[in-house]
Amino acid sequence: MSQSGRIIKAECLLVAVPFQSDAKPVWAFTSAPKNTFDTLFVRLETDTGLVGWGEAFSRTEDRSLKSLIETRILPLVIGEEARRIGQIKHKLEYGLQNFGRVGPTMYGISAIDIALWDIAGKAAGAPLVDLLGGPFADQVEVYASLLRYDSEEGVARAVTRAIAEGYRYIKLHEITYPEIAAGCEAARGQAAIMLDVNCPWSVSEALAMDAQLAGLDLLWLEEPVWPPDNFRGLARLRSEKRHQIAAGENAGSLQDFVAMADAGAIDIAQPDVAKTGGITELMKIAAFCEGSAIQFVPHCALFGPGQIATVHLNAAQRSVPLLERLYCDFEAEFYNGATLPTRGKLAVPTASGLGIEPDQTVLERFRVD
Ligand SMILES: [Mg+2]
Repeated sequence: MSQSGRIIKAECLLVAVPFQSDAKPVWAFTSAPKNTFDTLFVRLETDTGLVGWGEAFSRTEDRSLKSLIETRILPLVIGEEARRIGQIKHKLEYGLQNFGRVGPTMYGISAIDIALWDIAGKAAGAPLVDLLGGPFADQVEVYASLLRYDSEEGVARAVTRAIAEGYRYIKLHEITYPEIAAGCEAARGQAAIMLDVNCPWSVSEALAMDAQLAGLDLLWLEEPVWPPDNFRGLARLRSEKRHQIAAGENAGSLQDFVAMADAGAIDIAQPDVAKTGGITELMKIAAFCEGSAIQFVPHCALFGPGQIATVHLNAAQRSVPLLERLYCDFEAEFYNGATLPTRGKLAVPTASGLGIEPDQTVLERFRVD
């Protein structure tokens, strides 16, 4: 036990670690695809000697996001009492409301919130999950979230490998029928398959695909329509009752999930702890889902503090949601393998705060900014 103290130092580290995969990265955005994934760490230090780690969602070495967090957000937390998590989060959101309720500003606020919860756990001498009500499980089941292969052989090979490694749930990111069907066929009777298409279709295109996919017994269909906040379009698709509709990784706050529920858009809510306001906001969204007959299954395409925070969050839910992890082999791991699933399972850390500290040599070796 120690006092959480006041924040005296706040910094960002942008790290990009190469990975091996025979798949194409889906998330090239506007730049050329690279076989690396970013982790944008936020590190807060208090005058009582505690250090908290947070993570903001980042892709393709996003120096503009790092700069935004450094120049616009971090100065606002210096001098604050670290234990006032809700008050700090509100101050940041209220003060920065004109700079986006969805997107980079919220990613930065999310990172601050995660780091503050890490400090709170360390000050209490308890793992984060204990501060969230305590664990319903000591380990979480992980689903292998495959990259996009764009070939029937590629996706079937990846599904077969994931099953051999012990995964019982696998998510595909294919967008055309032959590849999707090949993935389902390779998993038949051995693993459940989810499908995430990342918002490619108009509502009418999505309705046609929804009908074509109906025989594949998908566990859920994720982000089928463009744009991601087309809640009426999602609701139209959901009214066909062929698939459970999942969405929410592109939401910014609880309010977006209220709007989705009002529209009847989703069966499964997927907020991302490093995008959607951090641990504080995800706990609110979890409670809202519980009261709204919506499943809470957080999105997690993260490999740093955000992934660990999601493990604690999932373990603190009675439903113990599946944990998402992208299926690729990194050149190095920040946590020396402690965040790598074994037989499709991951233990909930028991040390205080997030419970695992990043390896400084890995951070420095792959730091890009
Ligand atoms: Mg997704």
